[in-house]
Amino acid sequence: MLLEVPYPGRIVYAHVWRVNVGRMKLYLLDTDLDCNSEWDREITHKLYGGDWENRIKQEYLLGIGGILMLNKLGIKTDIYHCNEGHAALLNLQRLVDYVNNDHLPFNVALEMVRASSLYTVHTPVPAGHDYFEESLFGKYLGEFPARLGISWADLMNMGRENPDTNERFSMSVFALNTCQEANGVSWLHGEVSKKMFAGIWKGYAPEESHVGYVTNGVHMPTWAASEWKSFYRKNLDKNLFEDQSNPEMWDNIFAVPDEDIWSMRMTMKNKFIDFVRNDFKEKWLKNQGDPSEVVKVLDKINPNALIIGFARRFATYKRAHLLFTDLDRLAKIVNNEQYPVQFIFSGKAHPADGAGQGLIRRITEISKMPQFAGKIIFLEDYNMIVAKRLVTGVDIWLNTPTRPLEASGTSGEKAEMNGDRKSVV
Ligand SMILES: *Cc1c(COP(=O)(O)O)cnc(C)c1O
Repeated sequence: MLLEVPYPGRIVYAHVWRVNVGRMKLYLLDTDLDCNSEWDREITHKLYGGDWENRIKQEYLLGIGGILMLNKLGIKTDIYHCNEGHAALLNLQRLVDYVNNDHLPFNVALEMVRASSLYTVHTPVPAGHDYFEESLFGKYLGEFPARLGISWADLMNMGRENPDTNERFSMSVFALNTCQEANGVSWLHGEVSKKMFAGIWKGYAPEESHVGYVTNGVHMPTWAASEWKSFYRKNLDKNLFEDQSNPEMWDNIFAVPDEDIWSMRMTMKNKFIDFVRNDFKEKWLKNQGDPSEVVKVLDKINPNALIIGFARRFATYKRAHLLFTDLDRLAKIVNNEQYPVQFIFSGKAHPADGAGQGLIRRITEISKMPQFAGKIIFLEDYNMIVAKRLVTGVDIWLNTPTRPLEASGTSGEKAEMNGDRKSVV
């Protein structure tokens, strides 16, 4: 389907793609079409890419275009979920629809929208929240107040913690003002979000806030290794995969001999080591130069060592560097012949996050120092496959974020489904 999205002064066309994900229909909007100007074709080229103007063009497409798309497809929905502030403009188009099509007064339309919307905040890190300058916001949304029968200041104030100031338009504040329900993604993150948003509801204490939480979860059939899934089917309740959060489903684990669990661990660990040796050999030979050095590193991976893994986005608050604050002590630990320990790192930094990229550079440097060769290993080209191999293969999963900046942290959940110990600092 070709969707026409009215942008100021022009129509932007979007191709609508449907992907069937299990029982869900996922719709994707794509502006990379000949009928768009060069400038609009790139709206959907890169996630979080480009400058602030591209960002507002993306969020306009997602929010305004998203509702126009649902209207055109004839999809009637009871509840609208703003997953992050990025999607919040959907409520602006819904307000327009109520005012223009159903002839509701603005305040009634707002109550209708609020009663059927919820907003999930995903991070306390400021870079995760978008603020638009009034002039840029006006360039794209300037015609909306007239359609709603409100003033420009009324619209701007819906995105301001302090109305009638010159604050920029916050998508998160707009989401909170147009969604009745709001939640963080873990208990602690719910508490942190109550404080973070306290300024919006003047005269109320943070603990009186209605911001709640829903703990992020990962999909066990995706993230448990197939070997572990067979093991669970054989030994645990047959309804485990439908009801994993029920402790009774896990009761039978105590009847499984320790040796069986240990042998599963070793199977998974050896599989992981084979993966590193085979799939990475070629890449390493290409990137790290001297083949004898690469072979030396690969030979040093020891299935009898305690293998500790760390893999995720290299956002600085996740502190991948924490392990390297005392290199001499670390060298002693990894070179202890009686109790060998090895560390395997992987991950990517955001293209605009120079500090995150610096961390990766530092870890690869350290991994090439003679005392750490083969003991600290960095796997390149991080993706979901590498993440799954790591999470299923290592003994201990290392997690060292700055408290309380990690909103949820889901990779530790993946580790536990695969019999790893999770260590959180
Ligand atoms: C699960 C997962 C993450 C998230 O890990 P956190 O612990 O939440 O940082 C990141 N990247 C990939 C590829 C993942 O599978």
